[in-house]
Amino acid sequence: MSVPIVATSTYAAAGADEAGRGYGRYANPTWEAFETAVAALDGGQATAFASGMAAVSAAVAALVGTAPPQQAVVVPSDGYHTSIALLSSLGRPVRPVPIADTDSVRAALPGAALVWVETPTNPLLEVADLPALVGAAREAGVPVAVDATAATPMLLRPLEHGADVVVHAATKYLSGHSDLLMGVVTVGEDRLGERVRAHRALHGAIPSPFEAWLALRGLRTLPVRLDRASATAHELARRLALHRRISRVRYPGLPDDPGHQVARTVMDGPGALIAVEVAGGAEAADAVVAATRLWVPATSFGGVESMLERRRRWPSERPSVPENLVRLSVGLEDVEDLWEDLDRALTRA
Ligand SMILES: *Cc1c(COP(=O)(O)O)cnc(C)c1O
Repeated sequence: MSVPIVATSTYAAAGADEAGRGYGRYANPTWEAFETAVAALDGGQATAFASGMAAVSAAVAALVGTAPPQQAVVVPSDGYHTSIALLSSLGRPVRPVPIADTDSVRAALPGAALVWVETPTNPLLEVADLPALVGAAREAGVPVAVDATAATPMLLRPLEHGADVVVHAATKYLSGHSDLLMGVVTVGEDRLGERVRAHRALHGAIPSPFEAWLALRGLRTLPVRLDRASATAHELARRLALHRRISRVRYPGLPDDPGHQVARTVMDGPGALIAVEVAGGAEAADAVVAATRLWVPATSFGGVESMLERRRRWPSERPSVPENLVRLSVGLEDVEDLWEDLDRALTRA
């Protein structure tokens, strides 16, 4: 019922193994089991990497490739700050756009080498209108990559909307237990898949077989974990919106959220991340984070345990993220326990 962890750097009679595996940087049966599962979920062919950022790097390289260096990359003005830092380090012009505003994206497309989409964005949870955006990019002849880490293939399958590439930080929901870092790139087209694999073999950002095995184990429960966490998040978001110590809640499941309509039509659910602005600024937000007992103050998201953090505690976080914004990653604990802890922390702080 479980694939073995194949711990090997090489294969006897290199190249002659029946699946054509020769050396451990090119192929491993445990990665392949994980990749086969993600490929089925995303509807393409998947390549696993050592981290989400390794997957982002490979996707960018495979798409931008040999495009002339003066061609720009279109990037979300809000999104995972390390991805934006990477896209800004290519030596190409960078065109930041609010990714939920399709007209702005359309205006930035002419002559671009790539449009990098993240949806919902981390940490502001803005939702891109993927069918409209991909349509505009196709017209302009610009390839589209979508980082769907916050959505997972359960809620969003960008390849179905015509995107060229989808990237997940498997560190988050796909593995789901805060015990490893991994990434995965899924593409619809063979030649692009070959470029992604060639990049991995050349740059060497391969996952370890043990991490791939753990990720596959986590992936088995993805739908049940996400269903439960999303239902809890929805309830908590509704309550937080009424809390006097919260000045704003961002959650695409709330009817007055700017991303609500698009999320309803493009996604299969609003997910399990919430971003709140704490009344009283950064200090009040820090006090709330410090006062929780059940919620764990930690970066990252998508694990079994609920976590929260004030994002701007990181100097590299985007200045457009409000100082008092706390991102909540809802886990699998009882909703009333989570609410009680949060309400107490908010009231005490
Ligand atoms: C965490 C994250 C990444 C990077 O993943 P790592 O495994 O930390 O390298 C990329 N994109 C998004 C949206 C993320 O949340």
